Amino acid sequence: MRYDAVFLDVDGTLLWVDLDVEGYVRDLSPYTANGPLTVERASGPVWESLREHIRENIKYPTVETLARFRRENARRTALSLGLDAPDDVLLEVSKRRISFNPYPESEAVLEELGRTGVPLYAVSNWDVELEGVLEDLGWRRSFDGLVVSAKVGVEKPDDAIFEEALRVAGATRERAVMVGNDPVSDVRGAAAAGIDAVLVDREGNLDAGEAVAVLPDLRGLPALVVGDPGV
Ligand SMILES: [Mg+2]
Repeated sequence: MRYDAVFLDVDGTLLWVDLDVEGYVRDLSPYTANGPLTVERASGPVWESLREHIRENIKYPTVETLARFRRENARRTALSLGLDAPDDVLLEVSKRRISFNPYPESEAVLEELGRTGVPLYAVSNWDVELEGVLEDLGWRRSFDGLVVSAKVGVEKPDDAIFEEALRVAGATRERAVMVGNDPVSDVRGAAAAGIDAVLVDREGNLDAGEAVAVLPDLRGLPALVVGDPGV
């Protein structure tokens, strides 16, 4: 079958998020208030601050409220590390030391998907700034639309985000496909909404019985989307 719409997860599917803890320590060492800052000491709190951001961003549906949350989160992390730096410095450093890293095939696959003519939508558990991240990567134009949890108000695997994706795409559930790396958020969620789900299992260690296909990376996706029987 040739699908009418492709819903694509972002984190863990198109890119991975990384933190440069060494860079964070280097940037903020001038602001230590009680003893030297080391990578060993900083690593736990800095990663926890990212996890907190991922857990909590759904509560902040606007750029303004998210900015306030970012500021509080950065300040809390700095405080726990004994840093006494201005908020603007903390925000600037946390922005500089996070990176969004495309998988090797992501860019080529986005271009190839574009050539299939099948509309592509990001369906992502992400904060309200996903669009900016995609723009910075030069990927925004690859997507016909973005369905972002912090804007919708619910996260995958909640049925409501898949319904919103179908509405935005103007597609029927029988002719849409969700593609992602999470057996629960992406696969179980989409399957429960009656949408075909494709699991991207890069490590080859996931289990998702509800998936219509499992891919080791994104390279097989364009053929799958157009119903090429060769896949
Ligand atoms: Mg993911």
